[in-house]
Amino acid sequence: MFSLKGKSAIITGGGSGIGRAISVLFAKQGALVHIIELNSEAASNTIDEITKAGGNAIGYSCDVSNQAQVIDIFNKIGNIDILINNAGIAHVGKLETTSEDDFTKIFNVNVKGAYNCLYAAIPALKKSSSAVILNMASIAALVGITDRFAYSMSKGAIYAMTLSVARDYMADGIRCNSISPARVHTPFVDGFIAKNYAGQEEAVFEKLSKSQPIGRMGKPEEVASLALYLCSDEAGFVTGNDYPLDGGFVKL
Ligand code: NAD
Repeated sequence: MFSLKGKSAIITGGGSGIGRAISVLFAKQGALVHIIELNSEAASNTIDEITKAGGNAIGYSCDVSNQAQVIDIFNKIGNIDILINNAGIAHVGKLETTSEDDFTKIFNVNVKGAYNCLYAAIPALKKSSSAVILNMASIAALVGITDRFAYSMSKGAIYAMTLSVARDYMADGIRCNSISPARVHTPFVDGFIAKNYAGQEEAVFEKLSKSQPIGRMGKPEEVASLALYLCSDEAGFVTGNDYPLDGGFVKL
């Protein structure tokens, strides 16, 4: 079940958190994993973990917001069956405290980064007999989290991008879905707490965990499990949808 043997997968942001867990699981299931990362050291750590476990992974130093870099690397990689647009950054603030620079930075990475990778990947995906795209959205796209104006907007764009791409490339045999996680315990969350709540880390971690109906944060491995299903041949009928992974956050 859920074998990725013989498949070639590009995972952006595979050096940390959710992207790292997906990279490790996909390699374990037999995929050749290509990690596209801004942070080369983080990519190397993921690759070490994969190779020690007997899997295959290659790292590429790249800023997904830079289209020339992305196209060059995707051309070098060649054949791919799976693209996971996972790299993303956060910004805290409502509209009035979001500067033009903040807005541009978030959109360059979260939205243009995903567009760049899709643009570069489509020709190769068209040649695959089991092509699939998975975008990392967020519950911010579904409910508009408090104090996350630009971030929520960027994830809303990912949601719409998923539907548009699924529709336009269905005839080419390419499936496209997104996952919308609620809070997942990764360096992304730890960094946010450390930056904004120095000295109260434990209490804030507890408060954020309890703010989710299930009473805890998600684990990166739980996102990876859903990603594996969505990218496997077993999910051949699944396209054009978003899958919240949220401990009950959106509906309960
Ligand atoms: P993370 O910060 O732990 O990892 C993100 C990785 O992306 C890092 O290794 C970073 O170096 C890389 N990256 C950032 N900018 C890049 C760029 N311009 N080019 C290439 N690589 C870049 O984050 P995470 O928590 O694992 O989040 C992964 C994705 O999941 C993000 O898109 C995030 O918005 C989304 N998400 C996270 C949560 C959460 O609570 N952790 C919830 C919902 C959605």
